[in-house]
Amino acid sequence: MSAFNEERVLTVHHWTDRLFSFTTTRDKSLRFSNGHFTMIGLRVNDKPLLRAYSIVSPNYEEQLEFLSIKVEDGPLTSRLQHIQVGDTIIVGRKPTGTLLIDYLLPGKRLYLLSSGTGLAPFMSIIRDPETYEKFEEVVLVHSVREVKELAYHDLLVNQLPQHELLGEQVSKQLRYYPTVTREAFQNMGRITDLIDSGKLFSDLGVPALNPVDDRIMICGSPGMLKDLKAMLEAKGFQEGNTTKPGDFVIERAFAEQ
Ligand SMILES: Cc1cc2nc3c(=O)[nH]c(=O)nc-3n(C[C@H](O)[C@H](O)[C@H](O)COP(=O)(O)OP(=O)(O)OC[C@H]3O[C@@H](n4cnc5c(N)ncnc54)[C@H](O)[C@@H]3O)c2cc1C
Repeated sequence: MSAFNEERVLTVHHWTDRLFSFTTTRDKSLRFSNGHFTMIGLRVNDKPLLRAYSIVSPNYEEQLEFLSIKVEDGPLTSRLQHIQVGDTIIVGRKPTGTLLIDYLLPGKRLYLLSSGTGLAPFMSIIRDPETYEKFEEVVLVHSVREVKELAYHDLLVNQLPQHELLGEQVSKQLRYYPTVTREAFQNMGRITDLIDSGKLFSDLGVPALNPVDDRIMICGSPGMLKDLKAMLEAKGFQEGNTTKPGDFVIERAFAEQ
């Protein structure tokens, strides 16, 4: 059996000239956990051109959704950004990754810290009812440069709290904290600075990070991961992985060339 399925593009939404998202059909055999990524791509000169992508849509939905950067000279995204409804996308049949709530020890509050397209895996995790059974409070932090890059902002602020099945849990337990680094906005600054200064916690009205109550997932640039990992380890948090659960888990939103 092939390692890939061919799926049809159902919708495409361009958030900015650097960011877009799209939905596709989903083969019934595709199984994944919320937070997983898989390889996706296009056939170019008869060969698959693939890159890792987090799955935005929760695992109970019939369609798949992805959030993508547009890199001008990027081998895949210079092409992928032009996809149209009806086009074919290749989707790997073996999703994987470390951003699973199963890889975290029990805790009270779950922090999901993301920058840019690092939001993608958390969009499925915050739509998983189990997340709200395991944690009393879920804090989703999304850092971007400009306000227009706050993908899914309307879904998070207006639609999810009204969701037929998740609305009650989301309204009571999810805190969404968007922050912008290069424009005026209600919350401003990088996640590391917001943690260092304590502003994130005073804004949310919660205690500062501590390894007894708090569990953390991080998805962002390699630089952000490095800084946050060092910061958390200095506070006594231990990293978890697919074989040993811990206080925090991390995944790169992309690899630096
Ligand atoms: C585990 C994992 C999950 C990923 N999930 C996603 C996802 O959900 N959405 C997504 O758009 N990308 C994601 N990526 C990055 C993705 O695999 C590709 O790098 C991206 O699609 C660009 O592909 P490309 O061939 O056009 O350029 P590449 O040659 O792959 O990348 C060129 C350069 O562009 C920059 N870059 C690449 N991706 C990003 C990004 N997402 N944000 C900012 N800068 C970037 C980097 O500097 C990189 O060196 C993920 C990467 C990993 C390792």
